[in-house]
Amino acid sequence: MQITIDKPQKDAELELEDAILFEGTTSTNIVRVELWADDRWLLGKTSANNGKWSLTYDFNSGGTRRIVAKGFDANNQLIASDDNWLFLNALTKVNLDMNLSENFQLWEFVISPTSDLLRVDNTPTPGEIQNLKRLCQQILQPARDALGPLKINSGFRSEELNKAVGGVSNSAHRQGFAADVVPVKVGTKQLAKWVNDNREFDQIILEFGTLDNPRWIHLSAEPRNRKQVLRAVSISGSTVYRNIQIST
Ligand SMILES: [Zn+2]
Repeated sequence: MQITIDKPQKDAELELEDAILFEGTTSTNIVRVELWADDRWLLGKTSANNGKWSLTYDFNSGGTRRIVAKGFDANNQLIASDDNWLFLNALTKVNLDMNLSENFQLWEFVISPTSDLLRVDNTPTPGEIQNLKRLCQQILQPARDALGPLKINSGFRSEELNKAVGGVSNSAHRQGFAADVVPVKVGTKQLAKWVNDNREFDQIILEFGTLDNPRWIHLSAEPRNRKQVLRAVSISGSTVYRNIQIST
């Protein structure tokens, strides 16, 4: 019971110009192969023929990826896997490991399963990177210093990605003004309250969930800094925003 990834070679360094061809072998009891990246993104499925499999995938952002091939038997049981690290050099000159502030790096705001799956480019312009820096320096880094690590669920959205996800064209995510954030060590509402009490901001939106436990917090910094605090709720399938005040 075996599966291998033979191509690209282990630890290969590749240019992101073309789709990448993955090839390998399987033992004969493996009939179906799935290829995954970083245990999160299914790159594709294929059947194994005469002990061989192949798949192509076109990545749209650079970086290091752990690629895993999983082999399934006729009963759809996972019976073997092999992994491989790839180093993908993006054609863009943007360095995704760039620090926006002490603890935030550009990749956290740019990587998106949606952009990879839809194969749309999500590279920010230098001006948009400046906006993300302001967001980090004005709000996210001070909040992290006070409350511990923050997970960025969604950050920057290029024009292409914003269209692909059906985002509104004036979304603050579009220009790098906003991020959807979930704190790791404290509750979402505590993050919203801390930013409200301590920082300049344009909008804080308590998104969905309950008033005491929103699913995530949308935080934005932009020159207007309107200091709006809103709650997003879903009513009959559409999103409604209401002004609120955050109490303890
Ligand atoms: Zn948002």
